[in-house]
Amino acid sequence: MPCQSSDELKELVKEARPIAKQGRVADYIPALGKANPNDLSIAINYPDGRCFSAGDIERKISLQSISKVITLALVLMDRSKEYVFARVGMEPTGDPFNSIAKLETMAPSKPLNPMINAGALAVTNMIKGDSVEERFQRLLAFIRNLSGNDTIEYNEEIARSEFETAHLNRALCYFLKQHHIIEGDVEQLIDLYTKQCAIEMNCLDLSRIGLVFALDGVDPQLGKQIMPMNIARICKTFMVTCGMYNASGEFAIKIGIPAKSGVSGGIMGAVPGKFGIGIFGPALDDKGNSIAGIRLLELLSKTYNLSMF
Ligand code: GLU
Repeated sequence: MPCQSSDELKELVKEARPIAKQGRVADYIPALGKANPNDLSIAINYPDGRCFSAGDIERKISLQSISKVITLALVLMDRSKEYVFARVGMEPTGDPFNSIAKLETMAPSKPLNPMINAGALAVTNMIKGDSVEERFQRLLAFIRNLSGNDTIEYNEEIARSEFETAHLNRALCYFLKQHHIIEGDVEQLIDLYTKQCAIEMNCLDLSRIGLVFALDGVDPQLGKQIMPMNIARICKTFMVTCGMYNASGEFAIKIGIPAKSGVSGGIMGAVPGKFGIGIFGPALDDKGNSIAGIRLLELLSKTYNLSMF
């Protein structure tokens, strides 16, 4: 069923777009700096296959931090809750996503949660496989499965651009290695992580993955559980408590939808039991969230009373 352009969503996009002027496209990864700050698009996918959209939903975006929640799901399936949470915590930090501060002040020195970079790097390191290539292909296969799109790939230019400039992430890795949270070669981990963050898809794909989380791991089209229910729930809980960086509390109060954002300007939303959302709006606020994307979700949540709280 093709995705239908929706006048109601177009109205909400029109209302949300002007605030993009107050944001800035991320450019600490040079290749992301090329995005158009005024872009804003949304796709919503329902379990019965209906899909509604506004804006250019075919435009591809790199997942960036949105990938963290998907990698967490894979690693929880690969390993076990006990294994993963012995190395990464479950608590929000209140610090910026790439902060190193708490690693030093907490004892034992383990990342507070899998959504900050330190935790995400530790989680990516847990993907099973004998080589970077094998581990990456396993993650890609999982993402293709979740989105129902076999053509999903990663953007080599974005991966390279981040690999060449990921000094802070390298610093986090060396800190984690010193404290035995990770083992193995840091350059290989950065290679895998930057490829993971550069996996590209459009809003439609993003909304399909959001829908699988919304439905506790069930792919409604296949009628199949493609992720165990308890793992989908753990991921959704992290989306609520730390999915929107250190703005997650305010986001939960104002919007009340499990969501994960990335510095490319993507947001994946999972409205429990109802639908999946994919948003793209590359102008970011000072916390690193899509500024117009958040406004759009706020309008959507108010209009349709979507808060889960
Ligand atoms: N690849 C990005 C980084 O590690 C992801 C950050 C994000 O989207 O928040 O800096």
